Amino acid sequence: NQSLHALDPEIAAAVDAELHRQQTTLEMIASENFAPVAVMEAQGSVLTNKYAEGYPGKRYYGGCEHVDVAEQIAIDRVKALFGAEHANVQPHSGAQANAAAMFALIQPGDTILGLSLAHGGHLTHGMKINFSGKLYNVAAYHVDEKSGQVDMAEVERLAKEHQPKLIIAGWSAYPRQLDFAEFRRIADEVGALLMVDMAHFAGLVAAGLHPSPVPYADVVTTTTHKTLGGPRGGVILSKAEWAKKINSAVFPGQQGGPLEHVIAAKAVAFKVAASEEFKERQQRTLAGAKILAERLLQQDTVDAGVSVLSGGTDVHLVLVDLRNSELNGQDAEDRLHEVGITVNRNAVPNDPRPPMVTSGLRIGTPALATRGFQAEDFREVADIIAEALLPGFDEAKATALKARVTALAVKYPLYPDL
Ligand code: PLP
Repeated sequence: NQSLHALDPEIAAAVDAELHRQQTTLEMIASENFAPVAVMEAQGSVLTNKYAEGYPGKRYYGGCEHVDVAEQIAIDRVKALFGAEHANVQPHSGAQANAAAMFALIQPGDTILGLSLAHGGHLTHGMKINFSGKLYNVAAYHVDEKSGQVDMAEVERLAKEHQPKLIIAGWSAYPRQLDFAEFRRIADEVGALLMVDMAHFAGLVAAGLHPSPVPYADVVTTTTHKTLGGPRGGVILSKAEWAKKINSAVFPGQQGGPLEHVIAAKAVAFKVAASEEFKERQQRTLAGAKILAERLLQQDTVDAGVSVLSGGTDVHLVLVDLRNSELNGQDAEDRLHEVGITVNRNAVPNDPRPPMVTSGLRIGTPALATRGFQAEDFREVADIIAEALLPGFDEAKATALKARVTALAVKYPLYPDL
């Protein structure tokens, strides 16, 4: 029973270095967050030792009386949080939640209609070499070139043309809200089921700051580690009529033993997500993204060819459009990395540059809001980002911007007791 440092100094060193990286830089990857210490405590607990195939009260293993309690609490909390009739908290990840949901709803060979990966959709919404593209016949809708918003007229046209069994609404890189009522209307019109993947914006929904897809969709999937701020994992919510099919699609359809330590950590995260403090944090997340979008639309950045897709944001992220800039996505990501800000490059719709280079950045505010950032701090971050993307970036500039980043990191200590 040695400590990690004593037993395995190499791994301990990597963990320590990662903690230091998180503490000293500014995390702006839109899909990331900082889990509370209590969540990590549950995730690092003895529950990792337990096999519990099955569901609370109906397990294939003995000794499940305590993990049953934790899993049932997780189920009850997430149902209450989102007003869902049924919840399965066992998917190991968002991708596995989507795989199980599709497994429950449709058959291999059926047609699905999802947002194109190149326009902000996720791999599991029909990408060619993902399970979704291999098992199902895929049609994809897009965002409108001018507005940068999902083209609902195209969704309707494609739905009528392809007669999908399943329409998927949801995204990984999109700065606006989707019209769930309209998706439902179109799905009903063509006799399709509707699945909403709210992985990115689930925290905003939980806080009541984003329309909920739950009343409209047959099934809603999510991750628990993005805006929701919990452990890495997935959840499936559904109408009661789908409960049996969803449960059997997760286990034994897709998975074996559930990760009960992660499920306990999900329960803790759902408790946090029901709090006033969480709502206030999501408000700062949204405010921070708006501040960033507005800063990047000022004259100096616009003159440098920097723009913001869809002209702003309603969510926790901003998509920076560099199609008219000398700077490509890769260079911009590297520049921000140099000053201590972590983001990811991202293809923009109809991107003229190759996928490994891209002409865009996806920048999110959830992790900094969790860290405690207020509007004035987001204004400072937005200024630092804008200055890093302007022409004339050199070593002196990088050093000066990095010092400003460090000052913000010091102002909001992360995991001070770890
Ligand atoms: N769905 C959406 C919309 C996502 O953005 C992601 C992750 O980026 C996933 C699903 C997959 O989640 P995971 O990485 O946990 O498999």
